[in-house]
Amino acid sequence: MTEEIIIIGAGPAGLSAAIYAAREDFHPVIISGFLTGGQLLLTSKVENYPAFPEGIEGPDLMQLMKRQAERFGARFVYEEATEVDLDSKPFRVVTSSGNFESRVLIIATGASPQWLGIDSEKKFIGKGVSACATCDAPFFKEKKVMVVGGGDTAMEDSLFLTKFADRVTIIHRRDRFRASRILQNKVLKNEKIDIIWNSEIDEILGKNTVNAVTIRDVNTGQKKELPSGGVFIAIGHRPNTAFLHGKLPLDEKGYVKTIDEVKTHIDGLYIAGDVADGVYRQAVTAAASGVKAALEARTYLQKIRIG
Ligand code: NAP
Repeated sequence: MTEEIIIIGAGPAGLSAAIYAAREDFHPVIISGFLTGGQLLLTSKVENYPAFPEGIEGPDLMQLMKRQAERFGARFVYEEATEVDLDSKPFRVVTSSGNFESRVLIIATGASPQWLGIDSEKKFIGKGVSACATCDAPFFKEKKVMVVGGGDTAMEDSLFLTKFADRVTIIHRRDRFRASRILQNKVLKNEKIDIIWNSEIDEILGKNTVNAVTIRDVNTGQKKELPSGGVFIAIGHRPNTAFLHGKLPLDEKGYVKTIDEVKTHIDGLYIAGDVADGVYRQAVTAAASGVKAALEARTYLQKIRIG
């Protein structure tokens, strides 16, 4: 059976596309992976999504979006898309249970934060370790926190964290930042921020939550333990595009290169959310691009029906 619209991914972009597509009676099928919700499943409270003045837990926000899509007839398939055929019409999507076909395909597979990859980091994600300062900074009021990284995100996260934390220490593996000059200057001038150069975090320590880190000087190998109430990892994101290599143009970091926002060079194929956005990466911006993709899908489907 050929579906009208298949959406791969069920974060804010995929779910917002699903709400619009379902409400227009396109009966979209969402290949959602094993969990619905994307990166918001990793955060606790979301305080910057419009219409929730008291904030809302990330997973709850995603459940609400999912219910809204289901109310209009969206259907969820809890499997990973392992392969897509973008050369055929209808498009073909392969999952572990079989093949799906659709006239429109919206790819909204998002991005995943890069982690340091040390065991103690995994143990404390959501318990003092975060990859999203915009989401979690207010939970670190009056604490001493660390930020790892030397790019624009690390600078912005550190500056934002100074509004809440008592002290922010940037741990950077080199002796200079790669961030833009303007952000670097703001950081260097901020009295609440100090910087430890040429260092990496070796271990994150604590019982139930983080209370210290061990850092290592990359030149001397010398280690020292520093008290810390939280660790923000700001070392970049990795778009979830492994299954698109060789099928769509990707930039040097792996993000999909779109033409004109959500459009691609292939009619009927749209891209939404963080999978094509290495800069804004907010739930609300992802949701907006999901809506744009659904509206483009509607125009395309109307055109091929008439055509
Ligand atoms: P990024 O520019 O790739 O910087 C990542 C930083 O993390 C680098 O300093 C890198 O160190 C460090 N790093 C990478 N892997 C590491 C590891 N395993 N251990 C320790 N450190 C590690 O990423 P980003 O800062 O997230 O920025 C992504 C893009 O968004 C950039 O194009 C940026 O300009 C843009 N952005 C713009 C704004 C803005 O304009 N306001 C704000 C945020 C982001 P090295 O320097 O040694 O490689």
